[in-house]
Amino acid sequence: MILPPTPAAVNRPCRFKEKSDDAKPACGRPRRWIDTHMPLTVFSENGTPRVNLAGDLLAVLDGAQADLRFVVSPYLGPEMDAMIAGPEGVEAASQFIHRTVCAVPGRLYGACMVNPHFLDASLKTMDRCFGEWGFVLLGEMLQYIMHYRMDSAPVRRLVEQAAAFDAPVQVHISTSNRAQGRFASGVEELEDFLNLAERVPEARYLLAHLVGSPKDDPPVIATYLDIIEKRLGGWPENFWAEIIRFHSPGVPVALARIPHEKLRAGTDWCA
Ligand SMILES: [Zn+2]
Repeated sequence: MILPPTPAAVNRPCRFKEKSDDAKPACGRPRRWIDTHMPLTVFSENGTPRVNLAGDLLAVLDGAQADLRFVVSPYLGPEMDAMIAGPEGVEAASQFIHRTVCAVPGRLYGACMVNPHFLDASLKTMDRCFGEWGFVLLGEMLQYIMHYRMDSAPVRRLVEQAAAFDAPVQVHISTSNRAQGRFASGVEELEDFLNLAERVPEARYLLAHLVGSPKDDPPVIATYLDIIEKRLGGWPENFWAEIIRFHSPGVPVALARIPHEKLRAGTDWCA
């Protein structure tokens, strides 16, 4: 298991129904890969509804040469639109993820996306996601889409709650240091996040697609690592980073500067 389950999740229904009791690779058994970043929506890119989303996902997983598993969260689409529009949407989005995870038991794990603008609904949703359904992380935190700062009182409250559930927090940082939403750059997103991380050091953080774009040359990750190392003195024990593309020139930089056990595969391959 790449991301450990939350203690509250053990023996809960609809999660971690392993195909096998043994999570360790063994001779003759396909290697297990967990993609920590798989956004989902019920609509395909051409706008048509997916009538068999769970079946389609299962076909992808079964077609892999490995014991492939996905951590799934809402993607741009009606589920996220509803999350932005009102508190009911926050709960509905996680229900959608829960239904999908339950339809593919043991192969999908839930990520609990919230909107800090609706703090009460977000906390209630987290109680259900982590206390009842055994979701494995909070996020992705989409500050640039939902227009909030990570370094803000509502987000601190949510992240403290995630830490209480022992759930990592997946945080968006631009793969290409672009201006996004109300952020002038990925560096601004990173610095806003680091302000939060310094205030809530007890949380664990998964930096989404930090090891970035294949087009980046020089790699953006080098700039990001300079900032992290300057502020925190190195790669913190409670930080993990996702590799979104393994042919990115940022990958050798990440391998040279980030402890390898702190790297995760998070493709952000939107289904
Ligand atoms: Zn992202």
